[in-house]
Amino acid sequence: MTTKNTKAFGSEAPDAELKEMTVERRNLMPNDVAIEILYCGVCHSDLHTARNDWGGTKYPTVPGHEIVGRITQVGSEVSKFKVGDLAGVGCLVDSCGTCASCKNDLEQYCLNGFTGTYNSNDPHLNSYTFGGYSENVVVTQNFVLKVPTNLDLAAVAPLLCAGITTWSPLRHWNVGKDSKVAVVGLGGLGHMAIKLAKGLGATVTLFSRTPGKTEDAKALGADEVIISTDDAEMESVKGKFDLIIDTVPYVHDANPYISTLNISGTLVMVGYLGGLEPSLNTVPMILGRKAVAGSVIGGIAETQEMLYFCGEHNIVSDIEIIKMQEINKAYERMLRSDVKYRFVIDMASLKN
Ligand code: NAP
Ligand code: ZN
Repeated sequence: MTTKNTKAFGSEAPDAELKEMTVERRNLMPNDVAIEILYCGVCHSDLHTARNDWGGTKYPTVPGHEIVGRITQVGSEVSKFKVGDLAGVGCLVDSCGTCASCKNDLEQYCLNGFTGTYNSNDPHLNSYTFGGYSENVVVTQNFVLKVPTNLDLAAVAPLLCAGITTWSPLRHWNVGKDSKVAVVGLGGLGHMAIKLAKGLGATVTLFSRTPGKTEDAKALGADEVIISTDDAEMESVKGKFDLIIDTVPYVHDANPYISTLNISGTLVMVGYLGGLEPSLNTVPMILGRKAVAGSVIGGIAETQEMLYFCGEHNIVSDIEIIKMQEINKAYERMLRSDVKYRFVIDMASLKN
């Protein structure tokens, strides 16, 4: 397989800053498209990966899985796109295509393991994948999304991860106009969860640790904000929610949220990976048929559905545009929850 060098930004060790580097992209196979990356969102997973929070990061690593750009080249068998089209790439760039999950449009649960946009074994090169903090990317057409043309392109980028990660549970648990949904944490995922749940007609509550976010949350569409450290406020929503989406990235006590679920309600964890501390108390779950679930991103068809829904409802992310060279500062700000509400890199800055 022949390859081409591309300029990128990545890190060489868990405690190293991200810096400019060169990585290889494969030359196009018949079903591939090449995309010039225009914007790339900054997900907290990028930071977890760069700093090896989850273990298993291969270095050098190039994060970035909220990619929008323009098609610059198509392989001989590509029918879905032509040169000049807008395109999106999220967290998935391939999967086996033959297992029960893949056959049911659930590539994110591929039984043979999906190929992630970064830090995944690359089935084509004797290497691993590099993400969207780069000039361009080569992806098989079936994992490339069509982007609505009526939306601000930079603000579309975060839909490719933050959007689909919150859309998928909203759809799986059939959220609609009679639903009462709560979101834990107002960050990149949390603010998209509010907008999308609202777009589906639900009544939406935000749980936040941070009192200063109340006005913003309401402007984003939340009907109510509950400060999760205030016992009286927590008590006021006891037994209320059909679905809670918990986006908190670090270990935390999830028990207080269980008591705010309605009978048969579900708390779905999308943020923190690992054992909860304190552990979950089963009593309120058993006595109220309450469930705790998890969910990872979403399939390709579901991602396309979400992008079209956002196009129809004029939903995009609230973003702060940064230059590629500002990424290390942006990570520090993200750790302090000091971003409204997603950083997006203007990839033109990498060309300078
Ligand atoms: P983010 O923008 O940093 O937002 C996280 C929010 O959680 C913060 O704004 C903050 O909201 C709250 N928070 C942060 N630290 C906390 C702590 N120690 N205790 C309680 N609350 C805390 O992150 P993000 O990009 O939305 O990502 C959230 C998590 O989802 C990350 O771990 C990321 O890796 C993961 N993720 C999962 C998937 C998936 O498929 N399941 C996909 C993408 C990302 P308040 O200030 O309002 O409390
Ligand atoms: Zn992400």
